[in-house]
Amino acid sequence: MLPAYITHPDCALHEMGAHHPECPERLGAINDMLLVKGLLDYMHPYDAPLATPEQLAHAHSSLYVSELMAASPAEGYHKVDPDTDMNPFTVRAALRAAGSVVLATDLVLTGDAPSAFCCVRPPGHHAQRDAAMGFCFFNNVAVGIRHALTQHGLQRVALIDFDVHHGNGSEDIFRGDERVLMCSIFEQGIYPFTGENATGPNMVNVGLPSRSGSDKFREAVTSHWLPALDAFKPELIYVSAGFDGHREDDMGNLALVEADYEWVTKKIMAVAERHCQGRVISCLEGGYVLSPLARSVAAHVKVLIGAD
Ligand SMILES: [Zn+2]
Repeated sequence: MLPAYITHPDCALHEMGAHHPECPERLGAINDMLLVKGLLDYMHPYDAPLATPEQLAHAHSSLYVSELMAASPAEGYHKVDPDTDMNPFTVRAALRAAGSVVLATDLVLTGDAPSAFCCVRPPGHHAQRDAAMGFCFFNNVAVGIRHALTQHGLQRVALIDFDVHHGNGSEDIFRGDERVLMCSIFEQGIYPFTGENATGPNMVNVGLPSRSGSDKFREAVTSHWLPALDAFKPELIYVSAGFDGHREDDMGNLALVEADYEWVTKKIMAVAERHCQGRVISCLEGGYVLSPLARSVAAHVKVLIGAD
């Protein structure tokens, strides 16, 4: 029984114009790095299925989903926000990305995989219940979590988000849903300018100043995330895995390095071992400079699959 590696060629067909940082090459860079590091030898590959309207409706309004589908351009681009565009393949890529987390959920909860990494785009954590924004269309992790809650009957699921940007979409969807504990660390004062004031007791938000670096990041995990996670006792852990806090990534300035992603993944896996048989589902969010992105994902996946 191997950890699952879930992706799909459709995810590379969505693109938002030349020089857009959320580019198809991100997936190729990650795949190549996992291949040369030998990590794919320890994972079972799966094609991401298309999420169904019923699955999407657990995290998004049906009106939003139908309007987004209807906005799909036959050619060229349709602008959703100043940084976010649809091309003719965007809907299919977004359905695959959300479907990947649904499949990961089924595999992990039926015991067919101990853990899973979803190597997909577009990312999801800025997508709100009723709005696409910040390169995101469907909230992939949120769709997977609600699938675990509604179809598998779980009662306590943790969502950990270490992307440099606050996951405002995930907070929007899980606000008031006490079945979900969301733990996030993000850089203060950058896009989307939210998160400083948590919207409820199920939100553990830690905003860090620019240039915080490894020590302050690890201190935040140790003093804020871990006690909350141990008290919550999750039955399954999801990770919104964004790597744009790396010091070589110009989207943010948290000044993290690969060793921090390795370290935080070890802490997450230890929580999972204590409470949920090591069950962790990780899904790619941000990370835009190809070399540090690929190196950081490799550091994360190596621990996730127990090859460290
Ligand atoms: Zn980000």
